[in-house]
Amino acid sequence: MFVSDILLQKGGLVFAVTPGTSVAQVAQQLSTRRIGSVLVVDKFDAVIGIVSERDLVRALALHGPSCLDHEVVKVMTRDVVSCDPDDSIDRVMGLMTRGRFRHLPVVRHGELLGLVSIGDVVKARLEETRHETEALKAYIVAG
Ligand code: AMP
Repeated sequence: MFVSDILLQKGGLVFAVTPGTSVAQVAQQLSTRRIGSVLVVDKFDAVIGIVSERDLVRALALHGPSCLDHEVVKVMTRDVVSCDPDDSIDRVMGLMTRGRFRHLPVVRHGELLGLVSIGDVVKARLEETRHETEALKAYIVAG
């Protein structure tokens, strides 16, 4: 199974904010949309960062409630790791494990095609395992 299979199921909708968005507004968006991260894009829609729940917790711990008024550009992660639609689920799991993050934008030729979370990846892996088990059972019964 590949990243493109996940995108076929969940679609390519990606939530993004501009660098000047406040930390409070980002928290509001994460909560209303029930998501764990948003991308930060510039005026040309180019990805310049990612901000997740963890960054908000870190900012709160470091600066206290005053961080809610800070611009998200201050708390985001700048070096965003992305994946390709042709990447396997195994490769994506490896990237998330090594990078210690749970979100990966899907990019091809500079174009943002979607975003996969660890939840999407685990779901895809479970489906894959279920198919393999069913195929094995069918093979044993047929034999
Ligand atoms: P997460 O586990 O996705 O909530 O993120 C943990 C940390 O990794 C946070 O500091 C995020 O900003 C950062 N992060 C999340 N996704 C990515 C990514 N694809 N590339 C680089 N950093 C990321």
